[in-house]
Amino acid sequence: MKPVSFDYHRARSVGEALAALEEAGGEAKLIAGGQSLGPMLNLRLVRPARLVDIGAIEALTRIDETATSVRVGACVTHARVEDEACGIEGLLPLARAARGIGYRAVRNRGTLGGSLAHADPAADWPLVLAAWGADLEIEGTAGTRRVAADAFMSGAYVTALGENELLAAIHLPRLSGQARWAYRKFCRKPGEFAEAAAAVLFDPARSVARVFVGAPADRPTSLPMLAGEIARNGRAALRDDLLAASCEAVLAHATPARRQACHTMLRRALDEVLS
Ligand SMILES: Cc1cc2nc3c(=O)[nH]c(=O)nc-3n(C[C@H](O)[C@H](O)[C@H](O)COP(=O)(O)OP(=O)(O)OC[C@H]3O[C@@H](n4cnc5c(N)ncnc54)[C@H](O)[C@@H]3O)c2cc1C
Repeated sequence: MKPVSFDYHRARSVGEALAALEEAGGEAKLIAGGQSLGPMLNLRLVRPARLVDIGAIEALTRIDETATSVRVGACVTHARVEDEACGIEGLLPLARAARGIGYRAVRNRGTLGGSLAHADPAADWPLVLAAWGADLEIEGTAGTRRVAADAFMSGAYVTALGENELLAAIHLPRLSGQARWAYRKFCRKPGEFAEAAAAVLFDPARSVARVFVGAPADRPTSLPMLAGEIARNGRAALRDDLLAASCEAVLAHATPARRQACHTMLRRALDEVLS
């Protein structure tokens, strides 16, 4: 099948993109890399009257570093993170996460902002960035606001974005030299969407411990009790009964096999961080 016909508007600035969205009165869709939206258009799951292409807006494709954080424009591609994050102090784990997304042709076009806005429960960035403690910068005609990555997605394909807003950037806090990180994803073939995934960050110098599971949950889901145990007791928190109870509490709806896969990813991520 092919998409229904639509107007195509290539925006040169964020202001122009927002104006084009507003002018269409709810009938427009943003397009960045087109890796998720393209198939949805072809299957006519979405039928926008207008596409607003934000992929070439310079302000959305920049990576800027400060002493305390790194600002990654929403239209930075997975491939750029794969290639460039290893050259930015502390961001090597994100290069590794990027490399596990699809295959290189998908990563060459797909963007971080597109992945977050699409909000597939099995996607990599929503989980990775929630566990990292990233902040998301949202632009709208009413101004700019920031939302924590772990509060951005409220369910499968549902986000905090309003109708005439776009995701402009991801702010990544720099971790301390003591920080330990792990992201584990289970999929049947390399580069597929996750069937089960977990991410763990432990940064004792900043008093941060975060434990998140992704698929099969419908959104990145925090396990704060487990994170607290890790902060207090380190490796002694690695008890299978505690892990199983934590998974059971948030994945009660999942099949036993998916729950077990998630438990295994969580155990491996925790082992890596606490070894
Ligand atoms: C074969 C294949 C394998 C894949 N494997 C994986 C995988 O293993 N892991 C994974 O995580 N993903 C995977 N993906 C998805 C891929 O990561 C996409 O790049 C991503 O989901 C969407 O990014 P995009 O830039 O292509 O967004 P688009 O397809 O252009 O847009 C997706 C949605 O987000 C909206 N949008 C885009 N940018 C913005 C913005 N800045 N602000 C607000 N809304 C915006 C659009 O309106 C649309 O609704 C795969 C895709 C394919 C085709």
